[in-house]
Amino acid sequence: MAAPELKGTRVTVVGLAKSGVAAARLCAREGARVTVTDRRGEAELGGALAALPASVTRRLGGHDPADFTGADLVVASPGVPLANPEIQEARRRGVPVWGEVELAARFLGGLPIVGVTGTNGKSTTTALTGALLARDRRTFVGGNLGTPLSELALSGEPADAAVVELSSFQLEGIERFRARVAAVLNVTPDHLDRYADVDAYAAAKARLFATQEPDDVAVANARDPRALAMAGASRGDLHTFGFGAPAPASARDEGGEPGPEGTAIWFTPRGRAPERYQLRNRALRGRHNRENAMAAVLCARLMGVPGEAVQAGLDAFPGLHHRLELVAEGRGVEWVNDSKATNVDSTFVGLAAFPSGAPRVVLIMGGRGKKAPYAPLRPLFGGRVKALLTIGEDAPAIERELGDLAPTEPCGDLAGAVRRAAVLSGPGDVVLLSPACASYDQFANYEERGEAFRRLATEQAR
Ligand code: ADP
Repeated sequence: MAAPELKGTRVTVVGLAKSGVAAARLCAREGARVTVTDRRGEAELGGALAALPASVTRRLGGHDPADFTGADLVVASPGVPLANPEIQEARRRGVPVWGEVELAARFLGGLPIVGVTGTNGKSTTTALTGALLARDRRTFVGGNLGTPLSELALSGEPADAAVVELSSFQLEGIERFRARVAAVLNVTPDHLDRYADVDAYAAAKARLFATQEPDDVAVANARDPRALAMAGASRGDLHTFGFGAPAPASARDEGGEPGPEGTAIWFTPRGRAPERYQLRNRALRGRHNRENAMAAVLCARLMGVPGEAVQAGLDAFPGLHHRLELVAEGRGVEWVNDSKATNVDSTFVGLAAFPSGAPRVVLIMGGRGKKAPYAPLRPLFGGRVKALLTIGEDAPAIERELGDLAPTEPCGDLAGAVRRAAVLSGPGDVVLLSPACASYDQFANYEERGEAFRRLATEQAR
C-alpha cells in the first residue's frame, strides 16, 4: 500500500488523547495543514497539547462543523464515535474519515499486523501475543491502549511486526488497514450507549475481517456465535479457540481443573498433528486467561513464531498491572491486585480464577457502585471466600447482597481492609482486591487504587 500524499492537504484530527496527538504529528510531518479539535477545553487537555507542532491549528472546547466539511481528510481518535454529527456530515459530503490506525497503517509499508479486538481481554491478549512475537522478531505492541500505531510510523523504528489492540470505534474507520492475523475474543453487550444494539456494535468490529485477503488468518472464539460470524466473513483461513478436544485449525484446552503443571493448550495447524503447550504461569490464572492464551498461541504460531519461543513466552509473560496481578507474597499468602475489576462481571471472572473446594480467598470489594446487582457472585462464594472485607460507598449494598455467605466486615478504606486481611489470612490463602466497583469515591482511578494496594500489601507481606 503506497503512502498517501498529504502535502498541502487539509486534515482535521478529532480527539486529542495520545492517539490523536500522534496522528496530528504524523500528518504535520507529511506536510498537511492540520487542525485538531476536541470537545474538551485547553485546561482539561493539559499536557497533550504541548506535543503538537506550532503549525497545527487548535479548535478546543467544541467543534466547528466547517473543520469537518472543509477538510480533505478527517482522522478520528480511538475514543471518538464515528456517529458524531460533524463526522457524519463530513462523510455525507464525501470527505474520507479514517480511524487513527488506518492513517498509521498507510505509513507502515505493508508491515505484518496482528489485530486484536473483542469486548473483554483485548489488552491481555495483545500484550501476550506481542510478547510471544517479540521472542522471534522486532515487534511493536500498542494501539488502543499503550503506544498509538501512529507513533511507530513517526519514529521510523525498525519493526518486523506489529500487534495492535483495536476498539470498535477504530474499526469503524478502517478502509484498507489489513491484519495478517485478525482475532476477535468475544462480543458481549457493551458500549450500547454508542450503538443502536449489539449487532450494530458487532458490525463495527467486523470491519477488521472484511479487509482481509485469502492469505490472511482469522481467529475467533468457538463458543461465541457473534465472534464466529464476524470472523467467518473473512476471506482468510478461519481458526478457532475454545475448550474441548483438539480439532483441526484450532487451539483447544481440554477444560479440566489445572494440575501441578497447569493446563495444556493444543494447537492443531490445518492438516498437521496437534502441538502441545503448557500454561503454568500464575500471571495468567483463570479460564478467561486460558482463552486469552489460546488466542495468543494461535496468533503467534500462525505468524510463524517457532513453538519453543511460544512456550518460553507463555512462561515468561509478566501479566498486566491491576488484572489478577500478584503484587506481594509472604508468610504463605498471595496478595493479588485485580483493581481493573470495576464491575461485577470482571470480579466474577477474577474470583472464579481461584479454585473452589476450600475457602482460601480473603476478598476485598467496594468503592463507587455501578448500580448492578452483586448477587451474580453468590454461586462463587461457597468453597472460595474465607472472609469478605468491604470498603467505600457501596459497602452497605455489598454486605446486604453477599454478607450472609462469608464472615463480612466493613473496613471503611483500603488501608483498613488490608490490615484486617493480614490478620485473617494464613498460609495457602489469597488476599484478592477485586472491587466490582469504580474507585472514584476514594481514588483518582483504578490504577491509583491498585498501586495503593501494592504498597500496602508489600508492607504486610514483609
Ligand atoms: P480489555 O482490554 O478488553 O478491557 P483486559 O485484558 O484489560 O481487557 O481485561 C479486562 C478485564 O476483563 C479483566 O480484568 C477480566 O476481568 C476481564 N477479561 C479478560 N479477559 C477476558 C476474557 N477472555 N473473557 C471474559 N472476560 C475477560
